[in-house]
Amino acid sequence: MVSLPAVTTRMVIIGGGPAGNSCATTAARLGAEVVLIERDTIGGAAHLWDCIPSKAMIATGNARSFLRRSARMGLSEVGTDVDPQQLTDRLRSIEGRLETTVRSLLASQRVELVDGIGRFEGANRIIATLPDGSERAFDADVVVLSTGSRPRVPEWAPVDGERVLTTRDAYPPKIMPAHVIVIGSGVTGVEFVHMFESMGSDVTLVVSRQQVLPAKDAEVAAALEEDFLRRGVKLFKGARAKSIVRNGDEVVVNCDDGRIARGSHALLAIGSIPNSEGLNLEAAGIETDGGYVPVDNQMQSNVPHIYAAGDLSGRLPLSSVATMQGRKIAEHAMGMYSHTKDREIDYDKAASAIFTEPEVADVGLAEVDAFAEGRKVRVTKVPFATNAKALINDDPRGFVKIISDPATGVVLGGSIVGRHAAELISVLAVAVTNNLTVADIHESLLVHPTLGEALSEAAE
Ligand SMILES: Cc1cc2nc3c(=O)[nH]c(=O)nc-3n(C[C@H](O)[C@H](O)[C@H](O)COP(=O)(O)OP(=O)(O)OC[C@H]3O[C@@H](n4cnc5c(N)ncnc54)[C@H](O)[C@@H]3O)c2cc1C
Repeated sequence: MVSLPAVTTRMVIIGGGPAGNSCATTAARLGAEVVLIERDTIGGAAHLWDCIPSKAMIATGNARSFLRRSARMGLSEVGTDVDPQQLTDRLRSIEGRLETTVRSLLASQRVELVDGIGRFEGANRIIATLPDGSERAFDADVVVLSTGSRPRVPEWAPVDGERVLTTRDAYPPKIMPAHVIVIGSGVTGVEFVHMFESMGSDVTLVVSRQQVLPAKDAEVAAALEEDFLRRGVKLFKGARAKSIVRNGDEVVVNCDDGRIARGSHALLAIGSIPNSEGLNLEAAGIETDGGYVPVDNQMQSNVPHIYAAGDLSGRLPLSSVATMQGRKIAEHAMGMYSHTKDREIDYDKAASAIFTEPEVADVGLAEVDAFAEGRKVRVTKVPFATNAKALINDDPRGFVKIISDPATGVVLGGSIVGRHAAELISVLAVAVTNNLTVADIHESLLVHPTLGEALSEAAE
């Protein structure tokens, strides 16, 4: 695709989630005049509906599980009833603080925030419809689309926000579920299983394949499944939900193999769809694919001065990726670098985590993919059961697995199952991104006693 002039002065960004915000602050710091149009809350779905409230609810569930084990830690038992109002207040308080932080960051870079709904009038002209119905027009040299996505709701699911829920209705639900049927066993589905089970709900998980987390390492998925079964989660494997019926306080989920799940709530976790309708993309000649805006490695759409980032770009739907894409767009549009390969995002090296208990995290090459490709790799695995800090924490579940090149020792990937796996994977992410070797990890002097020592052992 054609590169842009070195300096851009007027950038309009539609959508103030992680992609839009990181792009806005970086571009403004590099000298652009930036207008950011957001129709809802600055911080985006990531702060309001997705990453933050889900992890905050999970933190409460984890605290509850921990307290329920208090006797084993030498404490007398403490109360573990969930107070939905306190939970709601806590979520609002976290969101509010994060929104203030993002707003002040944008203000410090003089980004103009516009409270409105953005759409194209032409390839270089954006219209914002303001809350009072009036309109403002903005001319732009560069436009960045970062409008995100929302939960997919199939026609067979009568979502009512009370007992038939999307993830957005669950923070916390109006009535705490006695028994929730989670439909979908990808990352989002299993996080909600963990969230509700740890808060005291019975849970049934409808798994369309034979393995939860079908896209993940089989050993990792097996560890999670084992934990779910131990906690009494019912798994409906190889079943696809085909209808949901609400009868008063009961919800019935019918599956295509004839099985029926009955509970107090059903929660859909079956993917998302892009927020692109209403943007009038045709007016700018932007091509779409299933509503997503396809982009090249610089995040340019088929119209070179119009970029797309975050979930709308149809790449890896992670907040961390959206933030990185936003930053790279700003740098590219402002002529910070030309088409050098080493500045492009390598999506295969993105670390990701699942905030269950135990947590699951991975980065880079997966063992299963290495074998499928017939690639020679060295795999080393260390269980947390032999780690001093895991025993101190009364949580020896899980393991660290490192995949490296047998000839050079370069770390190609890894997975971690266990407490704080999402934090620990950072070490492997730095190694994978920077072609560090297992010796680099093993030669580092780590703190004792820590879970991180398992990484050093696996790197030996
Ligand atoms: C339940 C759940 C949990 C998740 N947890 C994690 C996690 O722990 N870690 C992680 O990395 N990722 C997580 N994700 C994924 C993450 O939330 C998304 O990848 C991320 O939010 C994408 O950021 P974004 O900037 O593309 O869009 P968003 O965060 O969706 O922001 C888009 C913004 O655009 C605005 N907008 C849309 N249309 C218009 C318009 N026409 N005019 C003006 N404004 C508009 C919206 O109001 C919204 O504020 C989770 C997703 C889900 C569903």
